[in-house]
Amino acid sequence: MKKIFVVGNWKCNPVSFKRAKRLFVLLNKGIQKNRKVEVVVCPPFVYLQTYEGKSNFSIGAQNCFWKKKGLFTGEISTSMLKNLKCKYVIIGHSERRKWLKEKDDIINKKIKACLKRGLTPILCIDKISQLKSGLNGIVNKSRVIIAYEPISAIGTGKAFSFSKAKKINLKIKKFLGNRQVILYGGSVNQNNVVGFIKESGFQGVLVGTASLEVKDFTQIINRVKNLI
Ligand code: PEP
Repeated sequence: MKKIFVVGNWKCNPVSFKRAKRLFVLLNKGIQKNRKVEVVVCPPFVYLQTYEGKSNFSIGAQNCFWKKKGLFTGEISTSMLKNLKCKYVIIGHSERRKWLKEKDDIINKKIKACLKRGLTPILCIDKISQLKSGLNGIVNKSRVIIAYEPISAIGTGKAFSFSKAKKINLKIKKFLGNRQVILYGGSVNQNNVVGFIKESGFQGVLVGTASLEVKDFTQIINRVKNLI
C-alpha cells in the first residue's frame, strides 16, 4: 500500500504561542512515527520555529513567496521555510483565493518556487480547471501533491459524499495519472476519514478544524494507521 498523508492545517490558529506549543507537544506525545503514514502539521508562520525538527510529524507552511529575498514587505520565502526545516507548503488554499484574491498565475509561481527549493507543494483546488493553470509549465507534476477541497465542505461540517469525491478523484487521475498523490479536504473527521481513503480512493486527507483538537486529530491518524 502507498504511503498515506494526514495533513493538518491550523489556519489562523491558535492565538497564543503557549497554546501552539501545547498543541505541538500533545500531538507529538499522541502519535508515533510510521513509515506508511506521513503526518504533516502546518501552523501559522510565527509558530514554525516552535517545532525543533525532532517530532513524530513533518512540518509544513500554509503559504510562501516565490522570490528568495529582497524588497517584498510582509512575505516569507521558500528559502526561509527550507531553513526552518519545512518539508511541505500548502498553496492556493480556497481561503487565500477568496480573501487575498490569489490567482492561478501567482499560485503557479509559488509552486515552481517550492519545487526549486526542494519543498513539496500541496496544491489546493476545487475545480479541475485550476490544475491546468496551477501546474502550467511544470514538467514533473507528480512532485506536487493535489488536495481536492470542495468549497462547500470547508469548515462547514458538511463533508462531500464519498461517491461524489471518488468521481472527482478519478477525473484528477485521468488528467495527471495514477502516480499523483491526491488528498481530500473538507470537514474530515475521525468518522469519515476511512471512507475518503477506502471508498473514494484518496491517498490521504487535508484536515482543518479537526487538526486543532489533539484528540480528534490523533484519532484520524490512528484510523488511517489501522488501514495499513
Ligand atoms: C482546510 O482548511 O483545508 C479544511 C479542509 O478545513 P476543514 O477540515 O475545517 O473543513
